[in-house]
Amino acid sequence: MNKGKNIHMLDTLKATQRVVSGQRTTGACHIGHYFGVLKNWIELQHHYECWFMLADLHALTTHYQEPWTLKEHVFEQVIDWLSCGLDPKSCQIFLQSEIQEHAELASLLGMITPLSWLERVPTYKEQLHQLQDREIHTYGFLGYPVLMSADICLYRANFVPVGEDQLPHLELTRELVRKFNHLFGTNPQYQSIVNEALDKMGRHQKKTLLDLKKTYQETGSKDQLETAKTLISSQAHLSHHDREYLLGFVEGAGRMILVEPQALLTPTPKICGLDGNRKMSKSYGNVLNLRENPKEIPFKIKNMPTDPARIRRTDPGEPTVCPVFTYHALYRSKEDCADIAQQCRTAAIGCVDCKNLVAQAIIDFHAPIYEKGLSLKNHPSYIYDVIRQGSKAAKEVAAEQMKMIKESLCIGFN
Ligand code: SF4
Repeated sequence: MNKGKNIHMLDTLKATQRVVSGQRTTGACHIGHYFGVLKNWIELQHHYECWFMLADLHALTTHYQEPWTLKEHVFEQVIDWLSCGLDPKSCQIFLQSEIQEHAELASLLGMITPLSWLERVPTYKEQLHQLQDREIHTYGFLGYPVLMSADICLYRANFVPVGEDQLPHLELTRELVRKFNHLFGTNPQYQSIVNEALDKMGRHQKKTLLDLKKTYQETGSKDQLETAKTLISSQAHLSHHDREYLLGFVEGAGRMILVEPQALLTPTPKICGLDGNRKMSKSYGNVLNLRENPKEIPFKIKNMPTDPARIRRTDPGEPTVCPVFTYHALYRSKEDCADIAQQCRTAAIGCVDCKNLVAQAIIDFHAPIYEKGLSLKNHPSYIYDVIRQGSKAAKEVAAEQMKMIKESLCIGFN
């Protein structure tokens, strides 16, 4: 399995590379989403061409019995994203259901997806178990990873940010891409598309690239291949498609209808819920929202469980078994955490005071996000414009990719 790149290698990567990611629109974002997903996206948007998807079709796979909630969730989710630092000038924010190519490609990829690949996805059985109150023994829910593959392939994503536990999902996409390219990669338009792309480079650059290709294919020199890749990447006027075709041409593959995405490994800490013994999740009702009302925060923290062995104020505690301490680690400095740990172990601080300290740190951190959210909520037309513009841009890319996919499958009238 390709373990992908680490997010901390950002400096060495080029802004021309594309990142695609998304979030199901099933309700307000909580702090688990922030530390597990959004914090990474905010950083990525400055280093890559980023496409962030409001995954309402994915939300339907589990929430199809309450479709009336979806539009409100989309609206609130955009407010969440913008409030915490996503900037529509640095990334595209789009609505999955606005681009029909997602459903279309999922259907086509479904033709070549063995059932066994879907049944072995570790989260499938886990989710069936966790969401027992929902009727999700459906074709749509089982096919979730195929739709996810379509989301990634439509935009020819180079990278997909994932945590270690999500690598099997991405590996399924990579297997599907390889299978698709193997079965349908002999695009009859291939040579003419390559020739057009070469002509766009201008005579001199075209000759340089052809020389590099010849030397690479004769000698296998990796240096020549790398120089050719750099030359292709530096051609600002070439489209993503042109670049991918030229890369396939130089490497002698000629089959890059779909791009095999790489994992961009991101730190995804598991945030424990307010009930202390499970991961934070809307389905468990144990969340602290990203835009939580500051007045509610002390009350919610006050009710959290602590070290169960610390019964009296005078008993020493053990911070490593205390859920409250995990929030100290998220919101407070290393020095402050070390200090609290020491005070807890010597019973120098009581749990009430300890909780007050962390509640205040959470309030301070989230106050600007909360305020920005209130302001954005008063400008709904701006929110809808962000979605509309991002979806329009996404549609253009997806339609171009879909045209090539349909050509390779010999369907449609192109
Ligand atoms: S003092 Fe703080 S860290 Fe220690 S048990 Fe109480 S709440 Fe947890």
